[in-house]
Amino acid sequence: MSLSGAAVRRKKVSPSDRDATARPALLLDWYDRHRRALPWRPLPGERADPYRVWLSEIMLQQTGVKTVGPYFEKFLARWPDVDALGRASLDDVLRMWAGLGYYSRARNLHACAVAVLREYGGAFPDTEEGLRALPGIGPYTAAAIAAIAFGHRTMPVDGNIERVVSRLFAVEEPLPQAKPLIQRLATTLLDTTRAGNAKSRAGDSAQALMDLGSSICTPKKPACALCPLNDDCAARARGDQETYPRKAAKKAGALRRGAAFVVTRGDELLVRTRHEKGLLGGMTEVPGSSWLDAQDDEAALKQAPMLTGIARWHRKAGVVTHVFTHFPLQLVVYTANLPARARAPEGMRWVPISTLKDEALPNVMRKVIAHGLDK
Ligand code: SF4
Repeated sequence: MSLSGAAVRRKKVSPSDRDATARPALLLDWYDRHRRALPWRPLPGERADPYRVWLSEIMLQQTGVKTVGPYFEKFLARWPDVDALGRASLDDVLRMWAGLGYYSRARNLHACAVAVLREYGGAFPDTEEGLRALPGIGPYTAAAIAAIAFGHRTMPVDGNIERVVSRLFAVEEPLPQAKPLIQRLATTLLDTTRAGNAKSRAGDSAQALMDLGSSICTPKKPACALCPLNDDCAARARGDQETYPRKAAKKAGALRRGAAFVVTRGDELLVRTRHEKGLLGGMTEVPGSSWLDAQDDEAALKQAPMLTGIARWHRKAGVVTHVFTHFPLQLVVYTANLPARARAPEGMRWVPISTLKDEALPNVMRKVIAHGLDK
């Protein structure tokens, strides 16, 4: 059986009522036996700490569990609670975040910790509404914290859950339009304990679906034989599981081009800090041109920093490429070496190359510097 929004309106979704009521219990039973041990998860039966849930959920946005693990441990060791993080400097947070990408998350993380500390005395609000009012917490993260840390009967729907649900119910509507429908269907998989009951396992239902999506109902070759819901899965019955979720054709962003200038003075590198607002805001970078569609090399080179002592820029062979969420970028790298006493232009500074690892350098800049310093 496959479903569209109209079909769901005509008839409440489920292959059979018996299956529909059995699903939440089947999921929880499977979770109790196969749950992943993750650094932010408490032991079975223990209440989750809202700070850990929040920190992990922010880090996991657009980043995989394997990458997030060590960052989560590092953050927790340095800032064991929201109080400590709220008192940290933004620079320190950005430095610790370097390499995780999507740096607006780090700025929001810090702003959120400050807000929880100042407005709520260091305790996260326990409603979705209250959570959503905080910086960087959208509907998904609010639902995740509300369900996992506070036991509210709400389902946070991430990419893994979207995939499981769209297959289980064979949702024909493509993403992103199908999101409200998938949200409604996902909610039917929650633990049936009444909202507000301290025994609610809504958070475990959500985490069960997340685990199922990441370990069994994978994008390619789902292991349906091991799935606790396999008797009841519409896509499996059709035999075309991998074709779900349906997706609308994606428009790729246009290629942007620019230049980056790797300038050394002995063992030091010339850097500056990007504006607080916008892409990679507040991060460290080498001087560079704007990044524009169809910008030619000559126009990009004209934006080189004004430095005395440079007779000519040396263009490195090849280009550095990087893909951001909305566009791919191609940078030509120019290098120059300045004499020992050369001064940094206003707004720039010299940093020892040996301490670059401590700078809040985004991945694209790490690539540029590696390319520029490569002999
Ligand atoms: S039966 Fe297969 S396709 Fe269906 S939910 Fe389970 S793993 Fe996914």
